[in-house]
Amino acid sequence: MTAPDPLLLSLNTATVRAQWTMDQIVEGCTRHGIRGIAPWRDQVAHAGLIATAQRVREHGLVVTGYCRGGMFPAVDAAGRRAARDDNRRAVDEALALGARCLVLVVGGLPKDAAGRPVSKDLAGARAMVRDGIAELLEYARPAGMPLAIEPLHPMYAADRACINTLAQANDVCDELAPEDDGALGVVIDVYHVWWDPHLAREIARAGAHKRLLAHHLCDWLVPTTDLLNDRGMMGDGVIDLPRIRQWMEAAGYRGFHEVEIFSTRWWKTDPDVVLDTCVRRYRDVT
Ligand code: ZN
Repeated sequence: MTAPDPLLLSLNTATVRAQWTMDQIVEGCTRHGIRGIAPWRDQVAHAGLIATAQRVREHGLVVTGYCRGGMFPAVDAAGRRAARDDNRRAVDEALALGARCLVLVVGGLPKDAAGRPVSKDLAGARAMVRDGIAELLEYARPAGMPLAIEPLHPMYAADRACINTLAQANDVCDELAPEDDGALGVVIDVYHVWWDPHLAREIARAGAHKRLLAHHLCDWLVPTTDLLNDRGMMGDGVIDLPRIRQWMEAAGYRGFHEVEIFSTRWWKTDPDVVLDTCVRRYRDVT
């Protein structure tokens, strides 16, 4: 198994969001020899879209993905229109940043204004997601912005994403983008899919259709004490990261490997130590 290419390490800006501004993250990446960056919309909005695009270009960073669009299900037509409009803006921002893809976290059950689920119709939510992606694809494809569906661990089915396995994401791609032109694809985030008995098969399937658009890295800690904000640094948990990378590469993936760690403990750590650890662990255990 060959070592990962150091030039293909990317940092998802959520990893140090608590400690650094967007500008500091861009400078931190450069200082630590990290060539890719994947920013979040709120951080970009805070720093300014044009300013961020300029900073990233000045530093020669590749925007490996833009986080995120999605959240398609809504209680009524007005809600779905609002989601559509917001997603189109996300596509426009991703284009301005020169991102390689817009990551889609598709949304779960429709919620009321207070964020409480108002329905138990999971199949209906999934139909809204499919329709929402189909509609967004009509906007993103001619603009040249690939959409990357990120299947999320089933524990998030109600509140974040009702696409929960890579097979399910591949099925949506088959249905909506049979052309295999790279306009619609998937994100392989190890935190969400490492447990899947069909992972190898489905990575190969995605690769065969040119759908592997991004690879997100972290680790699964035992025990995991918070479902959202207790992701592990690579090497601290139980995910066989080299094996998954091998499956990705065997399926034709040649893109970046993006560290994305939501973690209250790493958010309390000196961000230069975080980035230094990311670089070393990427090299040694990924
Ligand atoms: Zn991810």
